[in-house]
Amino acid sequence: MIELTETMNNESVSIFSGIEEMNHEQVVLCHDKKTGLKAIIAIHNTVLGPSMGGTRMWNYASDQDALTDALRLSRGMTLKNSIAGLNIGGGKAVIIGDAKKIKNEALMRRFGKFVHSVAGKYYTAEDVNMTTRDMEYIRMETPYVTGLPEYMGGAGDPSPYTAYGVYMGMKASAKKAYGSDDLHGKKVLVQGTGNVGKHLIEFLTKEGAKVSISDIFEDKIKQITDHFKVDVVDADKVASANMDIYAPCALGGTLNDESLDLLQCDIVAGAANNQLLDEVRHGQALLEKGILYAPDFLINGGGITNVYYEYAGNHSRERVMAQTELIYDTTLNVYDLSQKSGQTPHASAIKIAEERIQSIGNIKLPL
Ligand code: NAD
Repeated sequence: MIELTETMNNESVSIFSGIEEMNHEQVVLCHDKKTGLKAIIAIHNTVLGPSMGGTRMWNYASDQDALTDALRLSRGMTLKNSIAGLNIGGGKAVIIGDAKKIKNEALMRRFGKFVHSVAGKYYTAEDVNMTTRDMEYIRMETPYVTGLPEYMGGAGDPSPYTAYGVYMGMKASAKKAYGSDDLHGKKVLVQGTGNVGKHLIEFLTKEGAKVSISDIFEDKIKQITDHFKVDVVDADKVASANMDIYAPCALGGTLNDESLDLLQCDIVAGAANNQLLDEVRHGQALLEKGILYAPDFLINGGGITNVYYEYAGNHSRERVMAQTELIYDTTLNVYDLSQKSGQTPHASAIKIAEERIQSIGNIKLPL
């Protein structure tokens, strides 16, 4: 037994303030000296079903940053899974460390044992710096994992479905902003040409949109310019670029004080999680600037829909595409609600997601 230092006391206060503020059910801190594993499993809400959300591996600047990320991302999964009409709750895990340096079979399998220890209250899948191979290692220790490769009965790469949902959300936004969902001739900037971005670019160029792209890696840019006719924008010039539609498909937090000062566009619709650095303040700032913001957790739900059907045991591509297509109608509903209530689209989408959780929670009978 050790005595708590002042710092540890302060940190424990801030741990519970975040959990209380976002109303998490359970947060598990995982540690294993032999493999060097440090991870956090955040279970936000299990009213609709077991919590589900990917595992992210990141070299966080501090443990507090890792915790904040796990708490915010798992809450986002609750909202995303609910508004997508799925019977799963929200959870997320983060592994702390540089994936290139410390990730190996033993570390992933030890993490799998921790996932198993919450006995099905949390199902994991891929997120940043995780591969289907890692999911295979986790599967060696627990059945509570999705996103497995197709040869293991899994649903395969979720990114094309995520991109399709973003495309649907963008078209619905165009319908609202321009009266037509035709993206032909619209100037769309895709920030981040990774797994989701590249599929989104394909949908957009097929429809005749004038696409420009931005990435921090030359090879990622080349992969796109080799196949598609697009303009390239410097990574630090995105916010001030000439565009009708901005599609953030890199990391979160790109809608912030600095970018909103510069941003001149009609619509923001992209795949990145937690695009609004401050949900309330920056959501409101977009509304006041007359920029239509398609809530990220609504329009990027195609990928989780894909792994959901893997978990449910009745996956088919047609079914996932059909369900993902519903994002178009839900986006329009969100804008209607926002217009009627005067709230931001983000707040309106949260309202729809929370109402579903409450109404389904109400029909549960006590055991
Ligand atoms: P990815 O890692 O494959 O691609 C991200 C790309 O963004 C990379 O090419 C990276 O170089 C680039 N990038 C990073 N910082 C940048 C910057 N400052 N400017 C421009 N480009 C930058 O990731 P992904 O799977 O394509 O996911 C993209 C985003 O969508 C992430 O925020 C992810 O959390 C979110 N998301 C993904 C899925 C999915 O199915 N993959 C589902 C839901 C949400």
